[in-house]
Amino acid sequence: MKRREFLKKAGAGAAAAAAITTIGAPAVIAKKHYRWKMVTTWPPKLPVLQDGAERLAKRIEELSDGRLKIEVFAGGELVPPFGTFDAVSAGTVEAGCAAAYYWAGKMPASQWFAAVPFGLNAQGMCAWFHGGNAQKLWEETYAPFNVIPRPGGSTGVQMGGWFNKKINTLDDYKGLKMRIPGLGGKVVARAGGTVVLAPGGEIFTNLERGVIDATEWVGPLHDLRMGFYQAAKYYYYPGWHEPGTYLEYLFNKKAYESLPKDLQHIIDAACMEIENWTLAQFDARNGAALQTLITKHKVKLIKFPDQVLEGLRKLAEEVVEEEANKDPQARKVHEDFKKFQKIVGTWGTISERAYYDIIQKEYPLKA
Ligand code: CA
Repeated sequence: MKRREFLKKAGAGAAAAAAITTIGAPAVIAKKHYRWKMVTTWPPKLPVLQDGAERLAKRIEELSDGRLKIEVFAGGELVPPFGTFDAVSAGTVEAGCAAAYYWAGKMPASQWFAAVPFGLNAQGMCAWFHGGNAQKLWEETYAPFNVIPRPGGSTGVQMGGWFNKKINTLDDYKGLKMRIPGLGGKVVARAGGTVVLAPGGEIFTNLERGVIDATEWVGPLHDLRMGFYQAAKYYYYPGWHEPGTYLEYLFNKKAYESLPKDLQHIIDAACMEIENWTLAQFDARNGAALQTLITKHKVKLIKFPDQVLEGLRKLAEEVVEEEANKDPQARKVHEDFKKFQKIVGTWGTISERAYYDIIQKEYPLKA
């Protein structure tokens, strides 16, 4: 209507049409295309994790109509898996995919953005990132390294692990040789256990030969794939040490900021899509893999006794407080995390927890 009036007032339809053509013209000027590289800490074809990174690249290419293409490399293909952060920081590559606790040696504060023993679960972590201060604190933590982080989705609550010795009391950790990395490992060590770390490919053999008595890994989907049910007697739950481990996407600050705004928004939106996709994959496929472990492989599931979990929880509090004392940023992040967990935890007690208490009767464990 307005345009028609304008044309009438202009009194020169042809001139106006020409002007419109001119206005429309810049749209057909070729926009700049970008070619990026992303490195990950995962082995090639690792379900959900490496898949997620490749899916993210595909979505960014689709959403940007091919203007931003990212070639994804698994751990070791371009840089060593744990060289991911440094490669992104230095700008050797523009992007990375990892879990923030891998960088604990560089910055203790990073651990809170991945997993804290007895900390937030997947839902709580998501709330902290998108409804709390986590994103801001995280960017602040990585800023000295010129790295911009984005949440990459959660594994959900992991499993407690595969054991060849029963854990009836906290004392049963004394002398227990277990493969368990990170803060969880520090807790097990404090309980008297010996933490043995080995590359993923050696864990099965170590367990089978008794070099270790126990190992944790991820959850039913990934554990089934590793074949641990053939080398261990008991499958313990829950994974108190990794209650909702979050993955991360990393972007070199200079590379990210050199992109036009719309491509930056596409990256952010695609990361959120993959964040959602990742937890959905873990929940759906862990559920299916658990059924296979129970019915096909007759795996014996055992819940850690309450008293053991209470003991581990006290030790975890000490360990996490000590980590928080390592530098001011870790303390700042820890205080915010604690405050947030109290708020969402209380709400969770009368919402999710109360609801689970009702429906769990419908899904008894037939182990
Ligand atoms: Ca794990």
